[in-house]
Amino acid sequence: MGEEKNRGVAEVMARGKLLRMKAGNGECSYASSSTLQRKVILKAKPVLEDAIKKMFNSGEFPKRFNMADLGCSSGPNTLFTVSNVMKIIQRLCHEKSCKMPEFQAFLNDLPDNDFNTIFKSIPSFYQSLKDGANCFVSGVPGSFYERIFPSKSLHLVHSSYSLHWLSQAPENIENNNSIYITRTSPPQVFEAYLKQLDKDFSRFLQLRSEEIVTGGHMLITVMGRSIRDPYGHHCAFLDLLSKSLIELVQEGLIEQAELDSFNWPFYAPYKDEVETIVHLEGSFDIDTLEFFQVNWDDRANDDDIYFDAYSSGKHVARTIRAVAEQMLVSHFQFGESIVDYLFERYAYHVACHLLVQKGKFFNIVISLRKK
Ligand code: SAH
Repeated sequence: MGEEKNRGVAEVMARGKLLRMKAGNGECSYASSSTLQRKVILKAKPVLEDAIKKMFNSGEFPKRFNMADLGCSSGPNTLFTVSNVMKIIQRLCHEKSCKMPEFQAFLNDLPDNDFNTIFKSIPSFYQSLKDGANCFVSGVPGSFYERIFPSKSLHLVHSSYSLHWLSQAPENIENNNSIYITRTSPPQVFEAYLKQLDKDFSRFLQLRSEEIVTGGHMLITVMGRSIRDPYGHHCAFLDLLSKSLIELVQEGLIEQAELDSFNWPFYAPYKDEVETIVHLEGSFDIDTLEFFQVNWDDRANDDDIYFDAYSSGKHVARTIRAVAEQMLVSHFQFGESIVDYLFERYAYHVACHLLVQKGKFFNIVISLRKK
């Protein structure tokens, strides 16, 4: 047990160093480059609303409502989810003329997340609450691949765009100059990623099943695949990042070996893969499973006649940079000027791609009910 715990701590520390959204409020920070993720939260909101309604209608609603947002990050989206949940419950209470519960909202992310910025924004969040709503917000640093809450303490768990991050990328795989599964990847690469998803997602469900009350709900949104075949639906936005990194190797700015040993610690599942793991793990019923797409450039509409590939390329590069910069810097050890150059190359490749085809993120939203 002690050894298991130590391994857990080592994993959290290693991940914290690797995966970290860009802190603060600066131009390249996650806080100022996460409008795409906000759009994703909004698109999944009807499913959230439905889950809360079902809890509300299924018996006595708790006097103290405990919710957790897993992988909350730091920025405008962090308290947005808490505020959405409160508004939904407020409306339901108003319709049924019952008293609003007290809220306890737990914000979880890896320990290196910029919790300071979140905490500074909490007083103004409390001030913005209407009609005497009572909410108590706390930060919970730790990996959601470990236990992070007491037994049976949560009524609702929400997690948006966080669970596609694996606890680690598969190691020692040969992947032909690619940082993720692509058309030219050998089958072993896909198998290794799927195996990691299996391990991580089963563990995640098992841990949460101990923390969520019977009848409680969990709403998860992740990037996914629209078809089973991983080579048919590959992540073009990551292919373009691989392409940009290969150029850095060709220009002698990074070593080939560094590129070879870098694997994106992420997996975009197909719906059946998720469903199978939920069924096998056995603690949750699937209430809803839906899909939606968002444009790589979240500002663009499909019929946008003023579409500007150059501007979209830059916008997409900013979104991906806020997520990937810390991870790339810690692996490749390159400085600020090379990061700037890498994302200039990336913006160019995204723009070229968008001139010939649309760039879309395919997303899966799944609502689970604890048995
Ligand atoms: N939910 C937010 C943030 C999404 S970014 C939004 O929608 O805007 C993904 C977040 O998941 C990052 O902040 C990252 O640090 C966090 N994350 C990734 N793996 C995690 C883990 N194992 N435990 C906790 N948080 C994790």
